Formats: sequence, structure tokens, C-alpha cells
Amino acid sequence: MALIVQKYGGTSVGDLDRIARVAQRVGRAKSDGNSLIVVVSAMSGETDKLIEMAHKLNDFPPDREMDLLMSSGERVTAALLAIALTDLGIPAISFTGRQIGLTTDSVHMKARIRRITGERLREAVAEGKVAVVAGFQGMDETSGSVTTLGRGGTDTSAVAIAVAMKADLCEIYTDVDGVYTTDPRIVPNARRLDNVSFEEMLEMASLGAKVLQTRSVEFGMKYNMPIHVKSTFTEGKGTLVSKESSEMEEVVVSAVTYDRNQAKITVTGVPDRPGIAARIFSVIADHEINVDMIIQNVSEGRSTDISFTAPKTEMNRAVNALQPLIKELDADHIATDEDIAKISVIGVGMRSHSGVAAKTFSSLADAGINIMMISTSEIKISCVIEAQEVDRAIRILHDAFSLALPPDQR
Ligand code: ADP
Ligand code: ASP
Ligand code: MG
Repeated sequence: MALIVQKYGGTSVGDLDRIARVAQRVGRAKSDGNSLIVVVSAMSGETDKLIEMAHKLNDFPPDREMDLLMSSGERVTAALLAIALTDLGIPAISFTGRQIGLTTDSVHMKARIRRITGERLREAVAEGKVAVVAGFQGMDETSGSVTTLGRGGTDTSAVAIAVAMKADLCEIYTDVDGVYTTDPRIVPNARRLDNVSFEEMLEMASLGAKVLQTRSVEFGMKYNMPIHVKSTFTEGKGTLVSKESSEMEEVVVSAVTYDRNQAKITVTGVPDRPGIAARIFSVIADHEINVDMIIQNVSEGRSTDISFTAPKTEMNRAVNALQPLIKELDADHIATDEDIAKISVIGVGMRSHSGVAAKTFSSLADAGINIMMISTSEIKISCVIEAQEVDRAIRILHDAFSLALPPDQR
């Protein structure tokens, strides 16, 4: 008998009919003789609705209260799914994050999981019940407050629970039937990948492919828990995210991603002397703002501009944090740009092949797309471009690296 952890995302549990259908799918896996832990997201749109409500009452709602508020979406679905399962005669019990002993650090709205004791999960499974867990949430191990794991965090709940419970299988059910060479909603001829290495998936997730939250892939990689991404609505092989194999190196570029959630912040006219960048980024770090790309313009004389990207949701906080520095450093001002996006080309094969950067830049240049920032690592090349060019850029790069299915296989 296998222990399976299944995760169902927002669209998969988007209305009562869908919850009833998920209950049937869970029932089938159970009647095949497996033990099941099912981790659920809030019904689609629910988390956004809760956030919107908070912002109607307060421009800067306290993070602690936001976490309690947002965690309620997942609780609703968990209870409803347990109710639907019971209706089918399948014994089920729902739990919040706290009830399964999922503790985190104290960083509200993007907490990191510290431990999962899982006692009540073990009890439920031993009693033959389906354990339904509200994803995305935990409990601050020091204050006891509810925390959430960042947008898309139910993926991380699921993989972490699979690791903690030593599950045989971790399945992520979503509204696409696997991980694709790029977002299939933008490029209809994108190709489903049978296998992806943890490392590539980690890059893809952190560079915008929202099909898996980055931290869920980190967990899978750290504890070697393979992750199966499958469709809730259709049968099929899906994609297996697992350890790198030698064949994977043969593919130079395996995916193209985009991220529209970044903003560019520029501190202009900063004096060109040692210690300035350190000062700017230590202030940013003190405010726990995740910086992604950084560029410093070539200095012509005594001053320079420093630009960086950070999540749009953190832009105002970053600007407020930096404001006092303008005077202290004798800089000019702070400029922001929200109409940007980052596109990236990813592949473990880049380690052993050259020319990917040249091809990326020339393909974009031929299409008249301006690149504002560039960053590279061993297995990826990222460019910041204007937000309105994203769809076109993705299609161009997807074609340039021949990622589409050959016409005869579509
Ligand atoms: P869930 O609600 O199930 O967690 P998400 O909306 O978070 O689902 O993630 C699934 C979505 O990710 C898909 O609908 C698709 O538009 C998007 N996506 C972006 N890049 C990719 C990719 N490379 N492969 C598959 N899906 C992708
Ligand atoms: N409901 C949360 C979100 O929308 C978590 C998740 O769906 O994974 O981000
Ligand atoms: Mg998701």
C-alpha cells in the first residue's frame, strides 16, 4: 500500500462541482488501495479577493492580520472537500496547517517551513481516513501566529508534507497537464516535457513559470522527493520533476519563462565611491526585500545610477526604505518602472554549449525588442524588457531555440 500526497490547485477546486469531482478522483486513488493525504488551495480567485478586501480598508494592512485572513481560503476548501468525500462514503478529516504541526519562521506572508510533526496526519492515515490539509499556511514557531508561505505556497505545503511523511508519491494536480517548454497559454504549440531536472525546474519556477512554487522545488531537490505534475481534468503522463539524468544535458535550451511581477527601481546620481552599493542593499536587506537583478551604469565622472529589480508588491516599501538614503548619500532621486518584465532562457545543457546568449540577444534585436537589463548564470540567461513585448518575445525565443513540437506530432 502506497502513501500518496496529492495537491489540488485553485482552478481544480474552483467551484462546488469541481470539488465534488476532486473527491471522486481521490476516492479512486483510495479504492486502488492507497493511503491519501490531500493538500488543497483556496478556490481560484479567493486569495486575491481577500487581499483586495483588506486593501479597501487599509493601504498598509498589517502582515500578521493578512496571514490570518489569507489562510481562511484554504480552510474553506479543505473542509468542503472532506465534506464531499464523506458524502461519497469515504472517511475523511480536514486539518489546518497548525493542526498538522506545520511550524514556520516569523516572516509573515512568505514564511519558511521549519518543521512538520504530522502526528494527526499519521493518526488519520492509520485510521484509514483521507487526511485533507489546508495548504499555504503554518504557525510561527515563536509567536504561535498563523503564517502563510507566499503566493502559490500550497505546492510547498504538499512537497514538504510528502517529505515529512515519507510519502511514496507526490502529485501536483493543476489546470495544465504538465510542465511545458513555456506557458502553454501564451504559446499554443509549447511542448509538454516528460522529465525535468530539479535544477532546471528550480530556475523555471524562480524565473516565473508559476506551475510550481520555487520553494516546493527546493524541498523536492533537497530531500530527493520526485514531483509529478498532472492535470486534474484529463488523464495523462504529466511531467516528472526529478534528479538530473545524463540525457537531460543533451538538450541545450529546455524552456523559456517570463515574470511580470517585477518592478525596476533606480537610485540616480549616487556618488561613485566605495561602500555606496553596500549601503543601499543593506537597507533593502534589512527590510527583507528580495532583490533580483542589479546593474550599475558606467560612471562618467563623479556620479552613477544603480538600478535593481524587486517584486512589484515590494516596490513601495523599497522606495520608502531608500528615501532617507537620498540625503545621506547625496544622491539625486529614486525612479521606478512597473511596466517591465523579465524573460529567461533555461537549460542545463548551456553548461557545455556556447552561443545561447548571442542567439537570445540577436533574436530579440531582429524583432526590435530593447533589452534593459541582462543577467546570466550557468544554466540561464535573463533579460528585462518592456512588459508589452513579453508575449512576442516569448514566441520569438521559443521558435529560435526550436522548442515547439514538430508539426507532424501536434
Ligand atoms: P494552481 O492553481 O493549480 O496552483 P497555477 O495557476 O499556480 O495553478 O499554475 C498553473 C499555470 O502555470 C498554468 O495554467 C500556466 O498558465 C502557468 N504556466 C506558466 N509557465 C508554465 C509552464 N512552463 N508549464 C506549465 N504551465 C505554466
Ligand atoms: N491560495 C494561495 C495563492 O493563491 C496559495 C496557492 O494557491 O498555492 O497564492
Ligand atoms: Mg499555483
